[in-house]
Amino acid sequence: MTSVGSVTRQIAALEISTKKPTLVPSSSSTTRPTHSKQPSQTNVTKLLTKFAAPKPFPSSKPTQPSNLRQATRQPSPGPGSTQPAIDIGRYDGGLEIEDEKRGEAVHGEAAEDLALDSSVSRKCPTREWHLSDFDMGRPLGKGKFGRVYMVRTKSAPKYILALKTLYKSEIVQSKVEKQIRREIEIQQNLRHPNVLRLYGYFHDSKRIFLMLEFAGKGELYKQLSKHGCFSEKRSSRYIDQMADALMYLHGKHVIHRDIKPENLLLGINGELKIGDFGWSVHAPGNRRMTLCGTLDYLPPEMVEGREHNEKVDYWALGVLTYEFLIGNPPFEDRSSVNNTYRRIAKVDLKFPPTISVEVKDLISKLLQYDPGRRLALSAVLHHPWIVKYRSKISIRDSGDA
Ligand code: ATP
Ligand code: MG
Repeated sequence: MTSVGSVTRQIAALEISTKKPTLVPSSSSTTRPTHSKQPSQTNVTKLLTKFAAPKPFPSSKPTQPSNLRQATRQPSPGPGSTQPAIDIGRYDGGLEIEDEKRGEAVHGEAAEDLALDSSVSRKCPTREWHLSDFDMGRPLGKGKFGRVYMVRTKSAPKYILALKTLYKSEIVQSKVEKQIRREIEIQQNLRHPNVLRLYGYFHDSKRIFLMLEFAGKGELYKQLSKHGCFSEKRSSRYIDQMADALMYLHGKHVIHRDIKPENLLLGINGELKIGDFGWSVHAPGNRRMTLCGTLDYLPPEMVEGREHNEKVDYWALGVLTYEFLIGNPPFEDRSSVNNTYRRIAKVDLKFPPTISVEVKDLISKLLQYDPGRRLALSAVLHHPWIVKYRSKISIRDSGDA
């Protein structure tokens, strides 16, 4: 058996896929899964109220980059208009302050790997973007390699986005150039209401900038920490959205491999958005031997160092369901990671008496030792615990109960 030490080491050493991604370049050519959810009238109405926009998903305009069409749009109020401008908050000057003391220009092969610019993307070229194209707003958070800001495009129609900065030299120090490149290439080609959109990216000598869909309600993890756990209704609605998004990803041969509350964001209507593709891999028909992710969410085949496939995400969905309802992952053992590891390998699953028979059934069917026996995502979408709470008005409704 693999030791926990080697598991953790392998977690850090992700094998890079050598396969060329064959992701679908545009939403028009995207094959959507049968259960794909469309923006509902309710959500449209909420967006209209929130942003006073005539159309939340404006149609194509020749002057507008095609892949910004679905970004949150804030039209400039016309003369005499009483429409309020969206407040993007106060910029703290963080980028300029940080730029003086953080990061260095990179050279050689790493510089080539990190010369990331969506205007020259083969699959999905956008217009050329620069930092000067944005009005900077409030800081949204700090990531491993830089800060994230709420921004608005200067030219009309104005779009609200989250601009994430990554310092190239820090990426190189962490030896994740290829991983970051792959993460960006994968995410830019995905279009699903529960997958955070990446609209474009550009770089300068020291930094990479990612133009991300703005997740208006922030991190799901914060909500979970605040409430301790979620109601069955709220959990069921999140899992419904997760299963749909995962089905979409797997249909494109993308395995996420790092499903956990920290990687999930919430849109303006409280809808779930998978927001981090750091460990995802594009692996068409490929069984992988690599290890990644957080121990609590790893399936037996990964902790035991065996080959794995997209069914790792089914397992993680079971762990996520449990954590939403109980407040901690099922195999967690705070005294030792070794114990967590053993509990995962034995599928040592215990339920508190407070949760329903239906959800116990769903979790037990997802947390199967044998990946082949785990409940299929299409069956998750038809499971009584999911169907019971699905909103009749909109199956893409938020989890907020
Ligand atoms: P970490 O390891 O800390 O998660 P990271 O490099 O993955 O770092 P992110 O999680 O992407 O960085 O961003 C840091 C924080 O910025 C998030 O925790 C979140 O609060 C905020 N944030 C990131 N992206 C968005 C977004 N699209 N909309 C709103 N807030 C965001
Ligand atoms: Mg993150």
